[in-house]
Amino acid sequence: ARPVIAIVGRPNVGKSTIFNRIIGDRLAIVEDKPGITRDRIYGTGEWSGRSFSVIDTGGIEIDGEDGMLRLVRMQAELAIEEADLIVFMADAKSGVTNADEEVAQILFRSGKPVVVAVNKVDNLQRMDDIYEFYSLGFGDPIALSGSHGIGIGDLLEACVDRL
Ligand code: GDP
Ligand code: MG
Repeated sequence: ARPVIAIVGRPNVGKSTIFNRIIGDRLAIVEDKPGITRDRIYGTGEWSGRSFSVIDTGGIEIDGEDGMLRLVRMQAELAIEEADLIVFMADAKSGVTNADEEVAQILFRSGKPVVVAVNKVDNLQRMDDIYEFYSLGFGDPIALSGSHGIGIGDLLEACVDRL
């Protein structure tokens, strides 16, 4: 079976945009379960001759609860269950948030390999914004711009290295 990469992060950081850039048209399955709706969108990606499954966990919603923190915590736990490697996505515009720090702790405790991806680095002036993401404790953050398609190769290189 292919190794599994899950993309986790707060709403609106750009997970689905990056997911689509990674998979192109290789969309696989859309699951929808009643109760706790844990929509997961699966696709496949390839880099350096390796193929892997990718999960966009962004569709997870919790009935009767609307706490964003609870939502991302659920996402993180689901990703830990299912994935061999987790792409933890944040956003250069908002910087490191409390929710990011909380999710980082959950991911850290799992012992799974984590690659930090900082999206919305739309131009070179914003490159300095990624340094604060070292504080999450997962090594070199990867700068991305989903809008401009920048950094996808760097991200996949970092992932494949650690699968
Ligand atoms: P998700 O909720 O994490 O899946 O995020 P989406 O992929 O749905 O993106 C949320 C919003 O951010 C959308 O309006 C995107 O167009 C925007 N967005 C995604 N990537 C970028 C980026 O690299 N730069 C900027 N400026 N906006 C982006
Ligand atoms: Mg999404």
